[in-house]
Amino acid sequence: MCIFCKIVNGEIPNNTVHENEQFLAFHDLYPKAPVHILVIPKQHVDCFQDVQPEVMAGMTMFIQEVAKKTGLDKTGYRLVANNGEDGGQEVMHLHFHILGGGKLRWDHS
Ligand code: 5GP
Ligand code: ZN
Repeated sequence: MCIFCKIVNGEIPNNTVHENEQFLAFHDLYPKAPVHILVIPKQHVDCFQDVQPEVMAGMTMFIQEVAKKTGLDKTGYRLVANNGEDGGQEVMHLHFHILGGGKLRWDHS
């Protein structure tokens, strides 16, 4: 079982931000911004490339709720989905990064 499925099952503790039947939002253990939240579907999907549009519809609404709950809807935030090897995806369970809490840099590399 993947580490995010273990988080969903309560086998690994997490710092939950928001939750419903289908989705879970929790703080990233190694934050890359002042606020760094991960959003996952509770049902395992490997990556963005494999996700069903119906799941994404729910995910969109859920992410908007997370932003409202944390005040990021007012300040702004960055939404990131690393996909596959070249995209830098390390955990193969679909997740969106919500990054905020300050002005974010946008450098080319
Ligand atoms: P990826 O590189 O796959 O897009 O992002 C994986 C993210 O999961 C990373 O930002 C990493 O810090 C985070 N992460 C890895 N293991 C854990 C964990 O056990 N708990 C939490 N909360 N975050 C984790
Ligand atoms: Zn999983």
